Amino acid sequence: MDGRNIKIAPSIIAANWADIIQELKKAKRGDFIHVDVMDGHFVPNITLGSDIAKAVYEITGKPLDIHLMLDRPDKYIDRFAFDGVFRITFHYESNALLIRTIEKIKSYGFKAGISISPDTPVRRIIKILALVDQVLVMTVYPGFSGQRLVEKTVKKIHQLNDIREEMNLNFVITADGGINRNNIGRIGPVDEVVMGSGFFSEPT
Ligand code: ZN
Repeated sequence: MDGRNIKIAPSIIAANWADIIQELKKAKRGDFIHVDVMDGHFVPNITLGSDIAKAVYEITGKPLDIHLMLDRPDKYIDRFAFDGVFRITFHYESNALLIRTIEKIKSYGFKAGISISPDTPVRRIIKILALVDQVLVMTVYPGFSGQRLVEKTVKKIHQLNDIREEMNLNFVITADGGINRNNIGRIGPVDEVVMGSGFFSEPT
């Protein structure tokens, strides 16, 4: 760790759902809860929807960070317009009109984030960096929890931090995927990390 105060967001899809009440208690130790929403199209997996996300908030009272891994994320934003949600993040690679989607997210009073998959270079999103509140760097290929960190993505975190300083912007940088207590120190200048299996496998 470099002494920065990095926020930790447990990713609820990585919880043991057979013991979900206990796992949600554990998740309350995080700064907020990360919810991965997958549609089976943009990624080859299906996960939670808005009803489960709502229940997670009702049980934990923790703010929710919604990560949409969906085609046409703009069509689903209104489903997440409930108490507890503070930010919605969608993928650059999804079939979204970027600016319109950001504006739609903000119209609900949410913070808006853009996410890039491991193979998407930072330069692709430079034009919209002034419009977003967060950049979520996928440090694994999106779709499944429990993967190993893709090392080349760490460079993008450094690039984003440099750009943020040069352009005097104030989006937060989040890393998502394959992060645990052992590798969090070499993930680069992030403000937040999402932790899945790395969080829930920690002893209570
Ligand atoms: Zn995520």
